[in-house]
Amino acid sequence: MDPETGGLYVPETIPELDPSFLSKNPSPSFRDIAFEISRKFIGDEIPEDELMAIIADAYPFTAPVAPIDPTTYVLELFHGPTCAFKDFGARFMARMMSHFNRGERDALHILVATSGDTGSAVGSAFQGVPGIDVTILYPTGKISPLQEKQLSTFEGNVRSLSVEGTFDDCQALVKKAFTDASLRGKLRLSSANSINISRLLPQSFYYVYGSLLVMDRCPYDSKIDCPSLIVTVPSGNFGNLTSGLIARKMGAPIRGFIAATNANATVPDWLATGEYRPRPSVATLSNAMDVGAPSNYERMASMYSLAEARKLLAGYWLDDKGTMDAIRSCNDRTGYIIDPHGAVAWKAWDAARAGELSAMLAGKKTAAGTPGFRGSAKTAPEWAKDCAERKCVGLLLETAHPAKFGETVRAAIGREPSIPERLERVLSLPDRSMPMSNDYGEFRDWLLKNL
Ligand SMILES: *Cc1c(COP(=O)(O)O)cnc(C)c1O
Repeated sequence: MDPETGGLYVPETIPELDPSFLSKNPSPSFRDIAFEISRKFIGDEIPEDELMAIIADAYPFTAPVAPIDPTTYVLELFHGPTCAFKDFGARFMARMMSHFNRGERDALHILVATSGDTGSAVGSAFQGVPGIDVTILYPTGKISPLQEKQLSTFEGNVRSLSVEGTFDDCQALVKKAFTDASLRGKLRLSSANSINISRLLPQSFYYVYGSLLVMDRCPYDSKIDCPSLIVTVPSGNFGNLTSGLIARKMGAPIRGFIAATNANATVPDWLATGEYRPRPSVATLSNAMDVGAPSNYERMASMYSLAEARKLLAGYWLDDKGTMDAIRSCNDRTGYIIDPHGAVAWKAWDAARAGELSAMLAGKKTAAGTPGFRGSAKTAPEWAKDCAERKCVGLLLETAHPAKFGETVRAAIGREPSIPERLERVLSLPDRSMPMSNDYGEFRDWLLKNL
């Protein structure tokens, strides 16, 4: 494995989990699943006891499953240090990179440009990890105050630069550093983007964990015989959904997925029309999904043909008004407080079981530009009908803690979610980020002087 990339770009074959492992009763723990999966992918390269130690160190938290109504479960992915699902990938990747960097004389320097969540997950994941340091670039004044707090309060081997410019400017500075041969002659540089397999793989752990747990307990919660499990994934770059596809190939009992987006509906449009048209992103309430050209599209398309993808995936999109309504309706009907990203998933699942997806099979057309399922009888997956006939249960991925979007939640339901201790704590830490102009020469000088 290569410490510069953290491993393989695309796994050539996806190993299957042993049926005896998948059918264990009670279903296996999160750590056992993490161990079993990583062993299959990287088993020969890391001794088993070390791999188990890496997993234990990466995951002092798990992904609890919360039943919110008789056929709906929420997979809570916000119990990590930064309260968003990216902790799962970033923490595993950080420890893999550290492992493969052992024995190097010089530190590995990670540069990461962020528009919010990725930076804090990566920074937090590498905090205190030996042999590696991290520099985060974020655009001044263009991220939320809480996000800025999360980025500007790191210490030690993680630091942040507040760049006078946009996210694209930050990314351009980082890209330029990577292609600067003379700089690379002096510093070992690396990136930490979402195309990295050691970030994608650990995300498959919670799909296997959550799906087994739901299949285990749903006979007690609802009276459905052998229900099909539909997983709804609120998506931006589609790294999370790609991990779900990998988990399914490994044997997770998942019948289908709903690819749920905000107004950045590139993938739902692709499923509906068969044409992939990346576009500039638009700003929404679920801002971690504001992606017009998803970086994992190629990877999904390399795993499945369009026809196969349409059998497996339904595409759904929702605008901001619908998102506010969804936060409200989820709370009114179930008592659960959901964040704006999870709310998109809730609405999509609720529409599927109410028959909106199967209506497409019956020839109902959705107008382009109208929120809802996208496609036609030809493109709707066959499980759409089962959902309408109440033969499915739904697992929603809740990708962030609602307190990270407290104002939006309050505007929707009239009160703010209580804020977890680990989030509250950063609010009282001193800001340590350093100002940086949008000038490559200055950035380069800073790197040479400070790293
Ligand atoms: C990053 C993120 C997403 C989107 O995940 P992708 O893997 O990019 O599809 C959704 N919700 C939250 C809260 C995120 O931080």
